Amino acid sequence: MSSTDTTHQVTIIGSGPAGLTAAVYAARANLEPLVIEGVIEGGPTGGQLTLTTDVENFPGFADGIMGPELILQMRAQAERFGTTFITEDIVKVNVEQRPFTLETASGNAISTQALIVATGAKPRRLDIPGEAELWGSGVSACATCDGFFFRDQHVVIVGGGDSAMEEAMFLTKFAAKVTVVHRRDELRASKIMQDRAFANDKIDFVWNAIPTEVNGSDGKVSSLTLKDTQTGEFSDLPCDGLFLAIGHIPNTWLFDGTLETDNDGYLIVDQPTTHTNVPGVFACGDVMDHTYRQAVTAAGTGCRAAMDAERWLAAGGDASHQ
Ligand code: NAP
Repeated sequence: MSSTDTTHQVTIIGSGPAGLTAAVYAARANLEPLVIEGVIEGGPTGGQLTLTTDVENFPGFADGIMGPELILQMRAQAERFGTTFITEDIVKVNVEQRPFTLETASGNAISTQALIVATGAKPRRLDIPGEAELWGSGVSACATCDGFFFRDQHVVIVGGGDSAMEEAMFLTKFAAKVTVVHRRDELRASKIMQDRAFANDKIDFVWNAIPTEVNGSDGKVSSLTLKDTQTGEFSDLPCDGLFLAIGHIPNTWLFDGTLETDNDGYLIVDQPTTHTNVPGVFACGDVMDHTYRQAVTAAGTGCRAAMDAERWLAAGGDASHQ
C-alpha cells in the first residue's frame, strides 16, 4: 500500500448532495477537504441524483434542473473553493486510531483528522431469479429514471410504503396500468399517499403477495410469478416492467463494528448534530436519514457535518470531545 505524508484535515466519503455540500462548507472554512467520489457498492459516482432526470423541488431552480447537472454544479462549486477529489473506491477505513486512515481500491492510503461519511443508501432488491438478469431491461428501482420507457404498458410496483405509492402515481403518467403488489393486506404508506393511490383509476392492488420470479426473455420482462402469502399458491401476473420500492440499504459496510447503527442499519448521530459515536467522524445524507431522503435534506445535513467538523477541529480535535 502506498501512502502519503499528508494528513488531511477533513476527508469526505461520498459525492452526492450531502458529501458535496459538506465539501463546499468545509472548503469555505479553509479546511481544504478531500472528497472521495468512488462508486460505493455499485452505486453511481455523484449519488442517486445522477440517476434521476428532472429535479423540480430543489430550491433555487424555478424551472427545474436535471439531476446529473445539479451534481455537476455542486461539484464545481466545491472545487472552486479548494476541494480536491479522488475518484476511487474506498475498501477499508480505520477509525480506531488517529489520525484516521482510509485505503483505496488501488492501494493508496489516506490519512485524515476528521472524517465525514456521506456514503448514501442503495435500493433494496428482492434477490429472486430473473431479477439480476433483467435489471435495466424491464426491472428497475427508479420510476423517475425509467418510467418513460413504459408508455401505454402494464407495470408492476412492489412495496407498500410512501415510495411505492409515489412511484405508482408517477408511473401512471406513462403506463396504461400500474399494479401495486404488497406482501400484506394494508399499506405502510401515509394516509394521504394511500388515498391518492386508491383514487387513481390506473392503479390496482394485489394484496398478500410476494414475487418469487421475474420472467422474460430477450431483455424483456413478460410476467412476474407471485406467491400468495395466505394460501401459498403461485400465480402468474403478466406485465412489461417491474419497479421495486421496498426500501433502501444504507452503505455502511466500511464501518461494520465501529460506527453505531440503528435496527435498520442507518448510522446513528447525536441529533441534532452529525457526530457519530466516534469523535471526529460525522455522518450526513441518506446513510443516516431514512425519513426524508431528499436532495435538499441531504444537502442540509452535509452543511451540518462540515460545521460540526470545523468546530471539532477548532476545539483541538480531541478524541474525548464531541
Ligand atoms: P418503507 O417505508 O420502508 O417501505 C418499504 C415497503 O416495502 C414496505 O411496505 C415493506 O413491506 C415492503 N418491503 C420491504 N422489503 C420487502 C420485500 N423483501 N419484499 C416485499 N416487500 C418488501 O420505504 P419507503 O417507501 O422507501 O419510504 C422510506 C421513508 O421515506 C419513509 O419514512 C417514507 O415516509 C419516506 N418517504 C416519503 C415520501 C413522501 O412523503 N412524499 C415519499 C417517499 C418516501 P411492509 O409494509 O410489510 O414492511
